[in-house]
Amino acid sequence: MMSLLINGQWLAGEGPEFESLNPADATPVWRKASASAAQVAAAVAAARTAQPAWAALGFEPRLQILQAFATQLQQQQEALAGTISLETGKPHWEALTEVSAMINKVDISIRAYQQRTGNNQPGLQHHAHGVMAVFGPYNFPGHLPNGHIVPALLAGNTLVFKPSEETPLCAEKTAELWQAAGLPAGVLNLLQGGREVGEALAQQPIDGLLFTGSSNTGRLLHQQFGGRPEVLLALEMGGNNPLIVDGNVHAQHAAELIVRSAFISAGQRCTCARRLILTGTAAQCDAIVKALQGLCARLILQPKGDEQAFYGPLISARAQQQLLAAQQQLISLGGKALLSMSALGSAGFLLSPGLIDMTGAQPAPDEEWFGPLLQLYRTPHFDDAIRLANNSRFGLAAGLISDDPQQQQQFRAQIRAGVISINAPTAGASSALPFGGIGASGNHRPSAFYAADYCAWPQAISTGPLTHDYVSPSGTGFRP
Ligand code: NAD
Repeated sequence: MMSLLINGQWLAGEGPEFESLNPADATPVWRKASASAAQVAAAVAAARTAQPAWAALGFEPRLQILQAFATQLQQQQEALAGTISLETGKPHWEALTEVSAMINKVDISIRAYQQRTGNNQPGLQHHAHGVMAVFGPYNFPGHLPNGHIVPALLAGNTLVFKPSEETPLCAEKTAELWQAAGLPAGVLNLLQGGREVGEALAQQPIDGLLFTGSSNTGRLLHQQFGGRPEVLLALEMGGNNPLIVDGNVHAQHAAELIVRSAFISAGQRCTCARRLILTGTAAQCDAIVKALQGLCARLILQPKGDEQAFYGPLISARAQQQLLAAQQQLISLGGKALLSMSALGSAGFLLSPGLIDMTGAQPAPDEEWFGPLLQLYRTPHFDDAIRLANNSRFGLAAGLISDDPQQQQQFRAQIRAGVISINAPTAGASSALPFGGIGASGNHRPSAFYAADYCAWPQAISTGPLTHDYVSPSGTGFRP
């Protein structure tokens, strides 16, 4: 069974078989063989061979192929959303928004290319790096790899794409759409497999590695590339995101924003709030907690990614078990379960939302738990809330819910995160702005609108008239 796309040919993998499951009921969705080490090398060689012609093709012809890809996505929007929903468990409405984001990425990338790395400024031009590897996470199996692939292709790079082993079918369908859009052979190669395939790809002679995934994997890759400054490394990783809420706000409004920040996609977004910090009197904090509990009790949670569902299951049994273990760890540190996260349904990996009050408990580990588990901290003072929020090695997203202009100003000035929101959900950042974190959340190579920057290198050009005295225009430093 064909699982890999190398040099325009669909090939059977020569490595071990693996499968993806439907997280709603744990039934198999895709089962094929992964790439062997030789096939990883062949994919990189195909990308290397295809690169000069792809770069020389010029911007306009590349642009036309990207626009043809956007048209393919539009025509296949329902089908691709169905695949995303099947393999990730996210509700169909949410999968449709993911495909829309993929379509919009093309126009955004064109604008970003022209504004940030185009060749329209005198004395400056940009070149493609060459062959880039793209690593994707499972939570947005279409949109996030696409956020690297589209700008990298536009700039003239050729690619080897290694998607998450949890979502191989989404990647296969996307690669088919690139082929249908007329992308030349070898320009985008697809390798399937798990960690070993990722490791083998990272050891190949590539010019860049564009990674979206967990902080642990990103750190490993960073170590692996130590001493190789010539390879561009763009790391987009996770966070332990705080959300500060001022007790003076309307409790119900706050509860709605908290739910949309912490529990959208069952907490499987890198920007989801993980730590809720309530400031104000005990009565104000209690009112917000009560509104939050009430709203969570009314959430529609569906294992089958139902159209009405707010969120669906976690990606795997392993993820579900890790989240339940994390909740247990918080409780053993002295946390009180105000909403106890528990497995729902007889099959599949659905979890109800969890809210653990950690006020006065022993410190929780500064980890990203990628699911619907929210820690609560209460403090009477806003200064303290900012200090608590910044008390993390990560710095991806942070939110504030407050009507107080002074608090908003202090938050803007002092909060340490790359993607911040005020009276808006922490999740759902704009693709028209840069997207990336500081600290352990990235390596200062933000994506989204700034992805153009890491997809091309600048070349400054000095030109002048060729004259007899150009060596020493001032006439000094030389004997007559
Ligand atoms: P992951 O790190 O487990 O996997 C990401 C990719 O790396 C996969 O393709 C995987 O096969 C590969 N990989 C794993 N180990 C490897 C190794 N040792 N060498 C080479 N490749 C390896 O991430 P995930 O669990 O799929 O995704 C969820 C994570 O992604 C969360 O931490 C989330 O915060 C993060 N994320 C970040 C952003 C962002 O833009 N900052 C966006 C979405 C998700």
